[in-house]
Amino acid sequence: MYDIETVRAQFPILSREVNGKPLVYLDNGASAQKPQVVIDAITQSYSHEYANVHRGLHYLSNLATDKYEAVRGKVATFLNAASEDEIVFNSGTTEGINAVAYGWAMPRMEAGDEIILSVMEHHANIVPWHFLRERQGVVIKWVDVDSTGALDPQAVIDAITPKTKLIAITHLSNVLGTKVDVKTITTAAHAKGVAVLVDGSQAAVHMPVDVQDIGCDFYAVTGHKLYGPSGSGAIYIKADRLREMRPFIGGGDMIKEVTKDSVIYNDPPMILEAGTPGIVQTIGLGVALDFMMGLGMDNIAAYENKLRDYAVSKLSGLNWIQVQGTTPDKGAIFSFTMDGAAHAHDISTILDKKGVAVRAGQHCTGPLMEYMGLPATCRASMGLYNTEAEVDVLIDALELAHDLFA
Ligand code: PLP
Repeated sequence: MYDIETVRAQFPILSREVNGKPLVYLDNGASAQKPQVVIDAITQSYSHEYANVHRGLHYLSNLATDKYEAVRGKVATFLNAASEDEIVFNSGTTEGINAVAYGWAMPRMEAGDEIILSVMEHHANIVPWHFLRERQGVVIKWVDVDSTGALDPQAVIDAITPKTKLIAITHLSNVLGTKVDVKTITTAAHAKGVAVLVDGSQAAVHMPVDVQDIGCDFYAVTGHKLYGPSGSGAIYIKADRLREMRPFIGGGDMIKEVTKDSVIYNDPPMILEAGTPGIVQTIGLGVALDFMMGLGMDNIAAYENKLRDYAVSKLSGLNWIQVQGTTPDKGAIFSFTMDGAAHAHDISTILDKKGVAVRAGQHCTGPLMEYMGLPATCRASMGLYNTEAEVDVLIDALELAHDLFA
């Protein structure tokens, strides 16, 4: 049983006011708020349990190491990885995808090799591939979405050629809310010897993820959207691919031995974790994942789907709002434009006056914005603590904005 009031009570920030109005936080796609257990874990760690990890032989270092390392198993459980050794910690999805670009793709791709992306990728899953295009002559191939924002998995599969080495694709669009059938894509890609990286930054927040069922080679998540601290994150790298990875940041922890003439690298996953990591952030991520798994990912998904349907019904009553992304089984993410409104920023400013936090702009998806022919959109993105009453506040605020601009 998903008791929304009990859930909300665990997020202290939700009881504050903004501009004299109760906060309606609908910017979860950018970053989510933190439950008290995560805030407490951070305080506890810095107040009583802090030291560097992996290095000391003293009590606090061992304690911090145990707490930090325990999170690897939690991430593995959360994503249903076969082993916690397939989990590499990092600062978030951006670093995770760059690790794959530098550590896996760069050493094995040459001029003319191809990477397939969908047009709705976040810049974090575009720019690292531009590096390969610029530096190595790798070709980026783009697959479009249809007018509802749906991505036909067959269109991705059809784009594969003998030159294709990697498909890098989002599991859930941060703009359209579209879910992608990454399992079908992965199965077909593997049959043709093509690896698949899934950007799970948004999907893992809203629905259960099973990387073994998907079968993908890489699955990136980011802690701050998962109700955990910013600067935390992880990437799942399937054991076979992990063995193929080259280190991409050099420093302490990722080595076994360094001499003046040689380096012996550490075993995976440590080979990909150089320097002092985000110790407390990662410990906080573990608590956030416990919190989500405690609620149950199926329960969170069912609750948010109901909320999505409510928002769809309300927004569809506003014929001067154009929602981008209308697939029925989408995530509770609504990007929209408004007739007569000067710019998305103007709408968000009016909403902010009513305590409603949304994001306005390009949402780090330049190619998608160009494809849709829009300079910017407003985006209301919901999380596990939002309510139908908050959707009503959004609708009222949109009506006010429309009255002002019409
Ligand atoms: N991919 C998607 C789909 C996202 O929504 C985001 C964040 O907005 C990212 C990647 C990048 O995540 P981070 O900035 O946490 O590295």
